Amino acid sequence: MLANVALIVQKYGGTSVGSPERIKNVARRIAKFQSKGHHLVVVVSAMSGETNRLIALAKEIQVHPDPRELDVMVSTGEQISVALLSMALMGLGIKARSYTGAQVRILTDSAHTKARILKIDEDRLRADLDAGHVVVVAGFQGVDEAGSITTLGRGGSDTTAVALAAALKADECQIYTDVDGVYTTDPRIVPEARRLKTITFEEMLEMASLGSKVLQIRSVEFAGKYKVRLRVLSSFEEEGEGTLITFEEDNDMEQAIISGIAFNRDEAKITVLGVPDRPGIAYQILGPVADANIDVDMIIQNVGHDGLTDFSFTVPRNEFIRTVDILKSQVQPHIGARDVIGGDRIAKVSIVGVGMRSHVGIASRMFRTLAEEGINIQMISTSEIKISVVVDEKYMELAVRVLHKAFDLNQAS
Ligand code: ASP
Ligand code: MG
Repeated sequence: MLANVALIVQKYGGTSVGSPERIKNVARRIAKFQSKGHHLVVVVSAMSGETNRLIALAKEIQVHPDPRELDVMVSTGEQISVALLSMALMGLGIKARSYTGAQVRILTDSAHTKARILKIDEDRLRADLDAGHVVVVAGFQGVDEAGSITTLGRGGSDTTAVALAAALKADECQIYTDVDGVYTTDPRIVPEARRLKTITFEEMLEMASLGSKVLQIRSVEFAGKYKVRLRVLSSFEEEGEGTLITFEEDNDMEQAIISGIAFNRDEAKITVLGVPDRPGIAYQILGPVADANIDVDMIIQNVGHDGLTDFSFTVPRNEFIRTVDILKSQVQPHIGARDVIGGDRIAKVSIVGVGMRSHVGIASRMFRTLAEEGINIQMISTSEIKISVVVDEKYMELAVRVLHKAFDLNQAS
């Protein structure tokens, strides 16, 4: 429960501020909170489609836009939203003030288009709050030590909101979006998917990193680090408690073993065949891949036969061709591997849940469920609270549906 007078940071995404009418609706929602005596800092994204439009425009001038200039440009999307929202609030008789990230002084490093927040000066915000203003801050942006505008990566307004909540020690950070919370899986694939009332921070981190796009992953990491109370809610529904991201595990006996099923089609699989089975091989294969700044996710090395083995791993799908090129030119001739093969028609499906820690047989239930559908598992990886498998892309939706049912996640109907 929130205190009688709470400091709340709210964030509204692009669809929530996608038109003048919607901006006015957001203002009305803020007014309701304000009338209860709460203090509000509101972070907004650019109107939906605007960031994409700006990036496309830049690319008409420069095929690979200069990162510094691109940041100058795309940050304007949020600048427009904050001004419009402040005007809408004023229209309701509410004192409001908008700021860009640089004006607040959200200090970041200089990694343009993917900057990290280093420090936030919250003095000005506090003074405005004390004076009874709703403070409206442009999401997704900051400023570096040299005074250049930076942006935080796509979806970065979530991180702005959480970082402000951490800096201000807000009672709650509420992320308003076009869904009413975090679901057991994507309802477009499984109509019986349920909204979770709570999810632990660790689970949320897995769900976000595994492709559930409700929150920018960095914002979840930030919330974990600074213990920010974070809630995801719908900006289109009047009531509803959304999903609260908690730090404690539910000790209640009813705690589900699995909280959700995540999936993505963002990876490709590569296998280096006929690799000599000797010390240093993994390094010789993956070193050049890492040097090219390509993220490797799942890795499998088989048991060797006759001194040879096969080595498989996954990379982001958009790095597939580049990785194969690197391996064929730099690695295969060196280590004397037989061939480099791979495919990008794969999907990763994962079951996530802290309940896994205290239950056995979860993996076998997962594998049996997939086997019963004739779905071949190509790779497996596990952590304490997650089991992921790689399957043929064409079985992804089926795998998600049968696992959702097998782990009792379907809505009681
Ligand atoms: N407007 C930015 C984007 O589209 C940031 C955000 O929406 O969070 O990625
Ligand atoms: Mg978003």
